[in-house]
Amino acid sequence: MSNLSYANEHSDAWQTYLAQIDRVAPHLGDLKQYIETLKRPKRALIVDVPIVMDDGSIRHFEGYRVQHNLSRGPGKGGVRYHPNVDLNEVMALSAWMTIKTAVLNLPFGGAKGGIRVDPRQLSPRELERLTRRFTTEISSLIGPQTDIPAPDVGTNPNIMGWMMDTYSMIQGHTVTGVVTGKPVHLGGSLGRVRATGRGVFVTGLQAAQKIGLEVAGSKVAVQGFGNVGSEAAYLFNEANAKIVAVQDHTGTIFNAEGFDVKALQKHVEEHQGVAGFADAQVIDNEAFWDVDMDILIPAALEAQITLERAQNLKAKLVLEGANGPTYPKADDVLVERGVTVVPDVICNAGGVTVSYFEWVQDMASYFWTEEEINERLDKLMIQAINDVWNTAKDKECSLRTAAYILACERILKARKERGIFPG
Ligand code: NAD
Repeated sequence: MSNLSYANEHSDAWQTYLAQIDRVAPHLGDLKQYIETLKRPKRALIVDVPIVMDDGSIRHFEGYRVQHNLSRGPGKGGVRYHPNVDLNEVMALSAWMTIKTAVLNLPFGGAKGGIRVDPRQLSPRELERLTRRFTTEISSLIGPQTDIPAPDVGTNPNIMGWMMDTYSMIQGHTVTGVVTGKPVHLGGSLGRVRATGRGVFVTGLQAAQKIGLEVAGSKVAVQGFGNVGSEAAYLFNEANAKIVAVQDHTGTIFNAEGFDVKALQKHVEEHQGVAGFADAQVIDNEAFWDVDMDILIPAALEAQITLERAQNLKAKLVLEGANGPTYPKADDVLVERGVTVVPDVICNAGGVTVSYFEWVQDMASYFWTEEEINERLDKLMIQAINDVWNTAKDKECSLRTAAYILACERILKARKERGIFPG
C-alpha cells in the first residue's frame, strides 16, 4: 500500500491553529494588516525518503520540513517520526513554534519537520539510514543560521547526533549548531532532555499558585509518559502531588493513592509502555478523561481534549505539555467552566528555551553547568507566564489568547519594521 498522502483525513491541526489566530486578530490594532503572514507557511518542502531495509528491500517514506515564519530569526522546531505525520500537521506544528519562540522572546522563527513512519518498526540501522537520507533531502533548508531542528515525538538525542553528523559531512566540517537536543558530548546542552517537562512543572506551579490550588496532595493525570509527560510527572510527584492516572499508547493505568513515578519510569524504559505496571488498576482509555483529578497534563499528541471530554473534565488546571491537545470549541467550554488552561505555546516551551541555550553554547563553544541552565530556564519561563497572566487580566481573555496577543504583536512588529521585500 502506498503511504503517499499529503493530507491525513484525521488531522485538522492547521484549522485549529487558524481558529486560534482569528481569535487574536481583534486585539492587534494596526498590526492586523500583517496577520495574513501568519496564516500561511513561508515555505514547505515535501521529500521522498527511500532507504534500503535490512532484508535488502527498498521502502519509501514521506518527509516534510516547513518554515512557518522567519521574521524574528532562523526557523526553530522539532522533527517528528510518527505514522500520522502529514503536511497539515507539520504546518500547524511549525506555526505553533513561531508563536512559542515569540512568547518566550527567543530570537527564532518557527519551523517543524517530520517523517510518516512508525520508528518502532525499524531496526536501529534502518532508523539511521532514514535519518541520514532525510537530513540530506532537507539540507538545502536547514543550517545554524537558517533553520535548526530538534527532537519531537519519536525522535531523540541519538537521531539528532546522526542529523548533525550528516549535515557536517555535507559541509565538510563539524557544525554542532545545526540541530539541538544532541547528546551532551556532541555539543548538546545539560538539562535539555528534561527541559520541556521541567517547563510544564514550573509554569504549572505558577498557575496553581495564582488560582489558589495547593500542589502538595493534588491529584494529577498524565496522558503520554515519554520525554515530556514522565519528567513533568516526576517533578509534580517530588512536589508531593499524587500521579493518579497515566495513559500512553499501550493503555491507561490508575491508582487513587498515586504511582511511584520512579518505578513507573523504570518499567516504561524496560517495557516501552505503562501496560503491565504493578500496583495499578487498568482502566478503559476513555475513562482516563473522567478520573477524579485536580491537574491534567496532556503530553502525548494533538486533538485529545474534545468538546465532550471538556464538558466532563474534573481538573481545575490543564497544563498542555503536548502541542495542540485542545480543540478550540473545547477550549471555550473549559474557559466557561472556569478551568485554567496553560496553553502549549508557553507550557511546553521549556524545550525550545534550552534548545536556544544549546545553540548559544554551540556558537560560543563554551558550555554552562546544569544549575546555570535550570536557573536561566526557570527565570525565562516564570517571566513569560507572568507576562501572559497579566495580559490575560488586562484584556479579559484566556491565557491562550493572551499568549497569542503577546506573540503576534512581537512577530508582526518585526514584520512591519523589516518591511516587505522588495518594497
Ligand atoms: P515521546 O515520543 O517521548 O512520548 C510520547 C508519549 O505519548 C509516549 O508515552 C506515547 O506512548 C504516548 N502516546 C502516543 N500515542 C498515544 C495515544 N494515541 N494515546 C495516548 N498516548 C499516546 O514524545 P515527547 O517528546 O514526550 O512529546 C510529547 C508531546 O509534547 C508532543 O505533542 C510534542 O510535540 C510535545 N513537545 C515535546 C517537546 C520535547 O522537548 N520533547 C517540546 C515541546 C513539545
